[in-house]
Amino acid sequence: MTAQKIDGKEIAAQLRGRIGKAVAGLQEAHGKTPGLAVVLVGEDAASEVYVKNKGIATKAAGMTSYEFRLPADTPEDVLLDKVRALNADPAVNGILVQFPVPAQISQQRVIDTIDPSKDVDGLNPAHAGRLVSGLQALTPCTPLGSVILAKETLGELSGKHAVIIGRSNLVGKPVAQLLLNENCTVTMAHSRTADLPAMCRQADILVVAVGIAELVKGDWVKPGACVIDVGINRIDAPEKGLDDKGRGKTRLVGDVDFDAASEIAAHITPVPGGVGPMTIACLLKNTLTAFCRQNGFEEPVV
Ligand code: NAP
Repeated sequence: MTAQKIDGKEIAAQLRGRIGKAVAGLQEAHGKTPGLAVVLVGEDAASEVYVKNKGIATKAAGMTSYEFRLPADTPEDVLLDKVRALNADPAVNGILVQFPVPAQISQQRVIDTIDPSKDVDGLNPAHAGRLVSGLQALTPCTPLGSVILAKETLGELSGKHAVIIGRSNLVGKPVAQLLLNENCTVTMAHSRTADLPAMCRQADILVVAVGIAELVKGDWVKPGACVIDVGINRIDAPEKGLDDKGRGKTRLVGDVDFDAASEIAAHITPVPGGVGPMTIACLLKNTLTAFCRQNGFEEPVV
């Protein structure tokens, strides 16, 4: 079997297009536009790229983008005051502080300070609790994007056995909860799971969020499974030669051995171009949701 590649870029582009249409409709009906504020502390190169791409996507969807760059030595109370000011700003419907933050700042205190109704990363424990309780929540973007890819690919997920490797608050746990809400039978695996390959071979849907390059081998995959690879790992790529500074080039791979798994699975996300593009699209989706809930507008289905 050669698996169908799940085109996250295309599915994310379609979702962003639907969000853009919904934003235009709300602007016409109410004369208001959603606003997303992104705060970056320090000069981490990867974070700079993420923030830039988020700004571009926000504006392309017709929303207002606010970007704030603070120096790497910003004290925690200064950042928290900035967050409180954004909490109080009615033009800002969503707030995202780009993680990781420098060591002098507690990530958890930042999460706890963002008004949950504007927490478009969905990281406030209140959202986790509400998700578990089946209540209205804002769902973390990468898990939401991962589950949308599975639904777009398979349609109905009810009754399927989903195995999730990884139990982080950021990815694994919310993915498990979302799939449970879709009536999957959910197994969560992690670093202490006994016989991980055998566990994976039971999965109709295998979601991998570990952070170890190509951990999942082809023979861990159940024939016909749908594999959602969340991992992003940079590895050496000697076959690509040297860059202009004479350093060895690198490439991105996921947590799944893509070529080997493609021989067994029915559907698989590539890295890059799978889950990654869905994360920004779902950030826009959450911003739209937050905007509607804050204003009492009916939430468009996107
Ligand atoms: P994390 O917080 O480090 O969690 C990793 C999880 O993997 C933990 O639950 C850990 O188990 C488990 N694990 C570690 N080694 C394992 C092993 N040998 N076998 C089985 N499980 C193992 O990572 P994360 O934040 O969830 O991120 C996971 C990956 O997703 C990373 O590659 C990250 O870059 C990527 N990611 C991608 C996006 C995107 O937009 N596509 C967004 C977020 C994250 P224990 O709990 O037992 O330690």
